[in-house]
This record gives sequence, structure tokens and C-alpha cells, in this order.
Amino acid sequence: MAPGIAMGPAFKFKKITFDIEEYKFRITDPESEISIFLEACDKTIEQLKETKQFSIKIYSDQFSEIFESQIELLQDSFFLSEIEAVIKKQKRPAVYAVHQVFKNKKEYFSNLDSPYFRDRAFDIQDLKQRVLNTIFGVAPDYQLNIPSIIFARELTPSDTVHFNRNFILGFVTDQGGKTSHAAIMANALQIPSVVNHNQLAEVINTGDFVIVDGHSGKLIIHPDQVTVDEYKSRMEKSESLSLQLKQEAQEKCLTLDGEEVRVMANVEFAEEMHDLETFGADGIGLFRTEGLFLEGQKLPGEEKQFEVYKRFSEKMGSKIFTLRTIDLGGDKLISEYQAASEQNPFLGWRGIRVCLDEPSLFKTQLRAVMRANEKGNIRVLLPMISCVDEIHESRRIIEETRKELQNEGVATQPLKIGIMVETPSVAVLADQYARYVDFFSIGTNDLTQYTLAVDRTNTKIARLFNDLHPAVLRLIRQSIEQAKSHGIEISICGELAADPKAIPALLGLGLRTFSVSLYMVPKVKRIIRGLAVSDCSEIASNLLECPTAKEVIARSVEFLERKFSGAEFIN
Ligand code: PEP
Ligand code: MG
Repeated sequence: MAPGIAMGPAFKFKKITFDIEEYKFRITDPESEISIFLEACDKTIEQLKETKQFSIKIYSDQFSEIFESQIELLQDSFFLSEIEAVIKKQKRPAVYAVHQVFKNKKEYFSNLDSPYFRDRAFDIQDLKQRVLNTIFGVAPDYQLNIPSIIFARELTPSDTVHFNRNFILGFVTDQGGKTSHAAIMANALQIPSVVNHNQLAEVINTGDFVIVDGHSGKLIIHPDQVTVDEYKSRMEKSESLSLQLKQEAQEKCLTLDGEEVRVMANVEFAEEMHDLETFGADGIGLFRTEGLFLEGQKLPGEEKQFEVYKRFSEKMGSKIFTLRTIDLGGDKLISEYQAASEQNPFLGWRGIRVCLDEPSLFKTQLRAVMRANEKGNIRVLLPMISCVDEIHESRRIIEETRKELQNEGVATQPLKIGIMVETPSVAVLADQYARYVDFFSIGTNDLTQYTLAVDRTNTKIARLFNDLHPAVLRLIRQSIEQAKSHGIEISICGELAADPKAIPALLGLGLRTFSVSLYMVPKVKRIIRGLAVSDCSEIASNLLECPTAKEVIARSVEFLERKFSGAEFIN
């Protein structure tokens, strides 16, 4: 779901379908089918390159990575040989072999636990459709004649860029989660959208008048005049508010009593680079590099990583760019580094543990980081630290990598090293950890899951996942106090940082650097501007004495209502 409201006629986008059963026969001339397949791959690669260029023209290079990884798959000799083997050994036509191998790959991704990987299945499906379209010499209809809301079973990045951007009012898709590329693109383009709207694309007709409410995920078909008027006025209000907040976000963020607070961005995908300035990010507080590793079919090498890190570093100029080293494991798996299935993956082979066991993976990333750090604005953040030895070992590998680069004649800039405070071990012993690092970044998503023993991905116990639990707040307080007394920087990058109910407490506990999802930066800055640190310190002390999360929340809501009575951006 991407926020915002869209109103207008529906355009029902139809994919071309093929009856694969018709191609299940045996063939006698595998070589000619292999040529058909390889020719289709070459043509598809050419089309993808054109689509990428086309997308760069309209959207700059924010979506290039997506097409790049599709091209890579079609150039992957291992993958191509799988399809050739089906043609040769099973004596099947190219169409059938393409369908079968892509289908298996898609199913593999669809069955993974992680919603992120399930969504990658759509990219595989998209590529399959493209290759089949090329073999059959057909192309779908992207012709929008008037501004419309696009309805589709699923939308892929290549579909999205083919529509006239000026005519896209919104998206509604049957499939795709919040990390699907359709959702990511809608978000990046700020197009109101609703994804995963079961079967709705089936019943809608082109021309039906609809309202898409990306805030609530609601879709209204043939609304009456009263509803239209109500939504029109909501659209006007929310557009002017978001414009105003983005403008304000360009200014220094000061509390009512004049304390400066930095609000940086959490970034996951290369596409988001485009919006860093618009949303007034005061730096990047968390770059989740595993996004890059999960995007392609294989691990990105040093050069590819170097290019991405360098582009971000240049974009940030004098602002900080915090790059977290790969945090694989838990719900973020990748076949090349997938351990045998673990009983408790979140307590298992994850984050820094993977990197220390696989030094070549770690070193490749570190080399790319150090080479990209010409401006000296990159700092490195280590995830999932749970004992001091891991810092020593990481530093040893970092220094070894630096020496290797120097021996190759590559000059390196000093690199600040920080750790995530996301295991209770670090928060409880923060005074010890603070001696060996340059900064802390509090990751409340994991800190909450490990403190409360509540799996963050388990919907059955979602009600127990409460990052405003007083136990979590006390660990945050302890980390801030220790960071300050050891003179190191501290920031927060978990989801809690963007929760209006938490902001007063976090300010009151002494935090002056927040890092939140890019699109939340303007809103968070607005809230901070409306608060005085002196009031916040008082509410923070009260909240720390609460016995339950429920009580913390009730008191915070009451406090916010007093400060911002009825303001829309608080919700
Ligand atoms: C966290 O754990 O709070 C965090 C920011 O890291 P991630 O959500 O990527 O685990
Ligand atoms: Mg984490």
C-alpha cells in the first residue's frame, strides 16, 4: 500500500495468456528449439535494456537495478543450461521448457517464509512472461488514453514503466505484498496504491469510476456524490499537508526549546536514492545492504556493490551515510548462504555471525565500502552483535582488508565502526561495548523481539510484540546513558523511531538522532518541532515507571493529544 488517495476511471490491464498444455508434446529437433529459446533470450535482453533506458528517461535511474537483475538472470549460464536441458533431455518445445523451469524457480521463491522472497517470485513470473511474449511475437496493451487507476492481477516493474506516467493515478493489484516491486515502485513514485486486494481486479471493468484510499487500503467502486465530495476534500487537505511537511523538512529540525534533532532515512533499495532530498533526510541512518543481496539471483560482486555504495556516498555529500553490513539470516535468506533449516532462525546464523564465518563474503563487501568511501562520509554499522569478541574479530577483518587495499595502491579513508543495539546483551552491557565502537544504533525491531521473546514475524503473537514495552524503554535508556558517558554517538533506527507515541519519550531519554523510513522523515520532523525537550524528559520518566506497554501507550496518547490536539499527522 502506498499512501494517498486517487479517484478516477479504472483501466483493466490484461496480461497475454498462453495455453502451455498445447506445448506439452515431444519434439524431434531440439537444436532448433534451443535456437528459438536463445534468440528469444537475446531479444528479451535487448527489450529489457531498452525498457531500462526508457525508465531512466522518465524516472532517472531509480528502477534500473530491477531490470539489471532480470538481464543478469537471462545471462546466467547455469539458468540457461537448465532450460536447454529440458529441451534436449525431455525433448520438449522451447515454450514448454521456459514455462517449466521458470515455474519451478517461481515456486521456490513463493514457498519461502519471507514475504520479501515471496514477492521476488513476481519478478521471475514477469521475466517468464516477457520471454514467452517474445517467442510468440506479441506485446500487451499499455495504452492509457486518459488518467486512470490501473487494475491488474499483478503489476511488474516493466509493466509499470510502460504506462504513461502522467496518466497513472493509482494502482490496485490482486497480488503482491508490501515488499513487492509494484508496492515499492508505487511508494517510490508516491502513487496511491492498494496491493493484495483479493480478486478485485477480476470484477472491475475498464471505465468504472473508483476511489483508492492508500491510507486505509480501501477501494470504493461507483461511489455516490457525498463520498466523492468527502474524498475530494480529504485529497486536497492531505496533498497540501504533505507538501507543507516536505517543505518544512528542508529546514533544520529544532524542538520548541531550540534543541537540534537530526532525522535521517532508513533505505533499503537503490531506487530510494532519488527521493532523499525531497523528503528532507539529514543523512542515511541505516542502509540495509541485504536488499541488494536479495534483489538479484546471485550475490552481487565487489564491483556492483562498489557502484551502488559510491552513488549513495556521492549523493549524500557532506551528510552521513550509514551502511549496515549484510544482515542475512532470520527471515532474510539467500540460497548461496542458506544454512540447513534451523529450529530458531532468529536465534541462529544471522547478521555478523554469517559474516564472521564467511570472511570472503564480508571482505568483498568491506572492499567495496572502503573503495566507495572517497568522500569519507560512510560509516559502517555491524548487525546482530551479541558479544564483544565479535567486534574485535570484525575490526581485525576490517583492518586486514584495509591493508590488502593499501598494498594494491588503493588509498582508504578512516571508517567509523558502529554496532546495532538490537540484542539485550548489548543494551545491558552497553558500557563495555561502548569502549570498542564509534557509535550505537538502536534497532528496536529486534531488541523488542529478543527482550520480550516474541518472534517479530509470527502473526499469532503479534499482539505481544510491543516496542513501547517499559522493558524495551529501560534498555533504550541504559544504552543512551552509556553512549553519552563514553562520548560515542547514538541514534535509533527501528520502526519505533517513527511512531508518534514514542517520539516524546525518545527525545526525553536524550536521543537527538533518529533514522526512519524515508517517507516518514517529514512527519517525524513535524512532530519533533512541536515538542519541548523539557516536557519530554518528564513524560519519559513517567513512562519508565509504567508496569505495562498498555499503560505506556495510554499515557503517551494522552500527552500527544494535549500537545497536538486533533492534528491529522499524529495518526
Ligand atoms: C531493527 O532490528 O530494529 C533494525 C532496524 O534492523 P532490521 O529491521 O533490519 O532487523
Ligand atoms: Mg535488526
